[in-house]
Amino acid sequence: MRAAVFQGVGNIEVLEVGDPICGEGDVVIAVATCGVCGTDRSIFRGEYEVSTPLILGHEYSGTVVDVGSSVSRFAVGDRVVVDPNVVDDMCFFCRRGENHLCSGLSPLGVGRSGGFAEFSVVPERYLYHIPAGVSLQEASLIEPLACCVRGIDQARVTTGDVVVVSGAGPIGCLLIQLTRMAGAALIISVEPSASRHEFARRAGADVVCDPSEVSQVVKLHRGSVGADVVIEASGSLTAAQSSLDLVRRGGTVLLFAVYPQGRTVAVSPFRINEDELRVVGSLNNPSTHSRALDLVASGRVTLEGMVSHRLALEDIDLAMNLDNFSQPSKVVIDLQAS
Ligand SMILES: [Zn+2]
Repeated sequence: MRAAVFQGVGNIEVLEVGDPICGEGDVVIAVATCGVCGTDRSIFRGEYEVSTPLILGHEYSGTVVDVGSSVSRFAVGDRVVVDPNVVDDMCFFCRRGENHLCSGLSPLGVGRSGGFAEFSVVPERYLYHIPAGVSLQEASLIEPLACCVRGIDQARVTTGDVVVVSGAGPIGCLLIQLTRMAGAALIISVEPSASRHEFARRAGADVVCDPSEVSQVVKLHRGSVGADVVIEASGSLTAAQSSLDLVRRGGTVLLFAVYPQGRTVAVSPFRINEDELRVVGSLNNPSTHSRALDLVASGRVTLEGMVSHRLALEDIDLAMNLDNFSQPSKVVIDLQAS
């Protein structure tokens, strides 16, 4: 089969490799669409270390072409979406039911072969049926949506809240949709790139502003009190720092993005204690795929218009650098297109 193989920093090649082998509990899928995630680009730039050679890609959907002898829930022809987070089920965290923190986590496309390939082998338990009415292409966005569902759980958005969402890329816009659904009274989207402001408005933001304006906007609506919840999804350290200044006493800051490892921001332990702040993270998507699928199937969350660029596998090199796109949004590799 053809696959995009990551060989080392800045080097990804489309090669002919062996077809995946289907174990007794495995399912082989013909990949339909695989989204390009910030994590793929971090790996490509050498900011996130993996063993090479590796077939990247962990946001993917496809059609079942082969099943192992013990597989009972899937059959050839089924349309499926992948939860890439393969765990060891044995470590301290797995035994506590916190599988997303697994010490032996080996995600498809990060720790083992992923979805930038014609075919992919996936253990049965990591697959979900795609409901009727949801396209294979939309389904490739289920993994990031499932991460966002988990994020909103962590942020504990409550009916009537004033919520700041920092970053209006694909993830920020999904978080805005979910925040709206969680009952927020006012959503303030913060985004430096004016070309993304319209996306934020369409996703449900009431106010869209530049980072330089956000503290004024919060003041306008809340005086000196601050926002109930601040969701930081831009990955900017400056934004992470200012999140702590925007949140009210007793409020929550969710640091949702992937930040540069080893970098720090200043926090006031006095304020965290005195103002009873909750500062939380959100890793992966533990058991949220079903909920993400239901949200899309019911039409509550719309993925329409989120994908801005569909590329063939041969263009993977292009997809690895966001600077190649005039209006950055979501780039996906369409395996059926090539
Ligand atoms: Zn584990």
